[in-house]
Order: sequence, then structure tokens, then C-alpha cells
Amino acid sequence: MRQTKIVATISDQKCDIDFIRSLYEAGMNVARINTAHVSTESGKIMIDNIRAVSDKIAILVDTKGPEIRTCQTLSDTEVKEGEFVTLSYSSGVLDDVKNICVNYKGFVNDLKVGDKILVDDGDIAFDVVEKHIKYLLCKVGNSGVVKKRKSINVPGVEIKLPSLTERDIEFIRWAVENELDFIAHSFVRHKEDVAEVQKILDENNSPIKIVAKIENMEGVNNIDEILEHAYGIMVARGDLGIELPEEKIPSIQRNLVRRATLHQKPVIIATQMLHTMIEHPRPTRAEVSDVASAIYMGTDAIMLSGETAYGKYPVEAIKAMDKIAQQVEPDRDRRELLVPLKADIPAYLAQSAIRAARELKPDAIVTSTTTGKTGRYLASHRSIFPIFVKCHSERVVRELALSFGVHASYLGTKKNKMKIQKAAIQELVHQGTLKMDDLVIYVGGRFGVDAGASFIEISTADKLFLKPRELQ
Ligand code: PGA
Ligand code: MN
Repeated sequence: MRQTKIVATISDQKCDIDFIRSLYEAGMNVARINTAHVSTESGKIMIDNIRAVSDKIAILVDTKGPEIRTCQTLSDTEVKEGEFVTLSYSSGVLDDVKNICVNYKGFVNDLKVGDKILVDDGDIAFDVVEKHIKYLLCKVGNSGVVKKRKSINVPGVEIKLPSLTERDIEFIRWAVENELDFIAHSFVRHKEDVAEVQKILDENNSPIKIVAKIENMEGVNNIDEILEHAYGIMVARGDLGIELPEEKIPSIQRNLVRRATLHQKPVIIATQMLHTMIEHPRPTRAEVSDVASAIYMGTDAIMLSGETAYGKYPVEAIKAMDKIAQQVEPDRDRRELLVPLKADIPAYLAQSAIRAARELKPDAIVTSTTTGKTGRYLASHRSIFPIFVKCHSERVVRELALSFGVHASYLGTKKNKMKIQKAAIQELVHQGTLKMDDLVIYVGGRFGVDAGASFIEISTADKLFLKPRELQ
């Protein structure tokens, strides 16, 4: 009964049904498709194969977002520490120094003297010493070979690139057509970046949920407005560690988890969690501690990237996460009762249910939900008690695959003569999830979809679904 959810990245190079089934059986809750590495055609095969394994696996598609790279036409350029080179949108701007061309027109304009430029995931650094109209004169910070199409990061610089590239738009439409569950949008800087994706979804009447990837300083600084507009966030430590000094990542991670929890929205911790398992069958002690500390901080989900996409030990990596989570979850510190930022009625009821659970120590907290909202509200308290959520759609079951401690399942529609509450509890008993004498805290609603939860009922499972004359 693991509570922390596991997101695993899958590549089109290795996505056969048996492989995906082995990941699912090892504990994968959400499959991530990174559009940086797939086409819509190969992505479609991945979707079909994931769905052939189970309709419970949520599918998250990851856009590339605004990014700057060295030009496609750049030939390998060796640079030496202390040497002066130019960086520009055009090529060959000065005769006597090497020029590195970049694929973004506004590059020179957006930067200023004193800025740092990092190429190839931070492997080579440049300092801007002079700004000219067409180029930046830079001093090389450390030697290396600059190759074509390598990543460029400019820490702390507000880049004026549009949030969505043509390719991103194509993949968002593709996600809509294929009825995927989540779009994780890269390099979200402010609420407008979320709104642009939402606009495309709204135009297509799509219920897909947006996860904002926080990967630079702007995203960190604007976290509250981003959380108000997105469904959830991802702490994208890969790029964060280049855009910001790496020693700042732990406290940023902790703060982002706190903010997401207060907004009662899911948060994923991503990148290099079990990095050495790409090559080795067992994680390092430091990696085990990293996964554990993400759970102690209260994350909803933890993510694997290369470990499952192209690593040698993908199933072992998921099993390792699963074991670490199960081991450390019970000894998380008891937290202060979370006071939600928005105390609407369902949020208040969820908090009350959790408070009651602390005193009554129930066997389960149960809710039924149309939108999943009450399930997410309950999840945000990171309670030690299992939360069973009965959903009226398969899609909402999958959406809850990102929420901590929530065990979601579909509520059959056959018994619609029975009240939803009774049907939900009865199904959990019949499935063997609950026993007749289990103490249950039930959070439910009687006033339709928009109203959400409106009451709490607490009793043993049998009393919550049997008629009085059926009780002994
Ligand atoms: P990426 O995002 O793997 O798409 O770059 C995650 C990260 O930057 O950590
Ligand atoms: Mn990234």
C-alpha cells in the first residue's frame, strides 16, 4: 500500500507491451513520454502499448518548451579557458575569433554584460564581456568542444522566447486527439505560459491537466501564480541545477513542495533520483536518501527519467523506489494540520476528515468524486491513513495517479438505484479492500457535481452501506 506515486519515462526505443507490463507490475503509476525524443507516430505506438497493459496507467506527455540550442550548422568548435569567442544568431561575425551560433534571434538582445552562458548541460561556461548589436563577446570559463544542437542555459536571464514552439503545439493537439491525461509543460516562467497551453486545450474542449515544470529562477519566483493556474507542478531538477547554483536546489525543492501542498495540488520531484541505476543494478546510498528525503518533504510523486527510458535496470529502478517509499512513509513526521489557502466547503470537509482520522484512527477514509477534487484535497494532508476514492470516470481514476496516498478506482454504474455512498462502500467491501467492521470516515456530497463534498459520515463499513434491518 505505497502512498507515494511513481512516474516513469518511457522511450520509443523500448516500449513493447511486455516491458511496459513489467514496469506497471513493479509499481509505475504514470508513464511519461518526452517529446524531445519521439515523433507523433512513434508516440502513438507507445500510447497503444501502455493502454494495452492497463487503463489505470496515466499518460503524461512532456513538451520541450522554450529552449535555446547551438545551431544545427555549427561544426565542432574547440574552445580554451581564457580565450575570447563570440556568440551570435548569425555566423562568422568577426574574422579573427571563433563564433558559436545559436538558434534564437533575440539572444544578443536578451543578454547583458556580466551574464553567464552555459552550453551542453552546463559543461562549458562563457562570461559575457562585451555586448554588440550582432554578437556577444565572451570569455571562455572552461575548455571543451562545443557541438551542434547542444542546450544553452542563461541563468537568471529573462528570455523572451514564446512559451510554445510549433512542435509543442503539434504535440498538445496530438495529446488532445489521443485523450492523454497530463501535459507537462517545460520551462514555465509565469501564469501566461500555463494559460497558453490551457487555451489550446479549451479550444478543443479537452480535459487534459497541465503540470507546470519549474526549471528556472522565474518559475521559482512566480510559483504561487503558476500553482493557481496549473493542475500541478514538477520540480525539474535537471535544468534547475544548471539555471541556479546546485546548492540551492534542496531548499527550492522543499519550498516548492510546501507551496504545492498549500495549494492542494500535486507535485512531482524529478531527475537523477536513481541516476546511477542507468548503469548499475543497485542505487547509491545517496540516491536512496534523496528518494527518502523527497518523501519526508511530502512530495506526491517521484520520477524516473533515463533510468527507465534507456537504462539497463528499469524494473529494478521502479522496485527500488517502491521499496524505499514503503519503508520510509510510515515514519514521516506528524505534521501540523494543513490549513488550505482556499477553504471552500470540500476543502474544509477534507481537513475535518483528516482531523477526525488523527483522533479516531480509522481503517480507511473513503470518498466518491466526479472531478477528483475531494480526493486531491484529502491527499494534500499527507495522512498516514489510506484514502479510497471511487470515481465516476476512468479518466479521473488516472488523474489521481499523481496524488499522494490516494487509491482510486472506478465506481460501476450498475447500481445507480443505490445511493452513491452506499455503492462506493459496498464495492470496496466486495473487492475485499474493506472489511465489514472496518472503521470508515466517508466524505461525500449530495448536491451534484459543482457543489462537491457536503458531508462526513463516520461508522463501520457495514453500517454505511447495509440497510438497518440487514445489520445484525
Ligand atoms: P527534462 O525535464 O528531462 O525534460 O529536461 C526535467 C528536468 O529538467 O529536470
Ligand atoms: Mn528540463
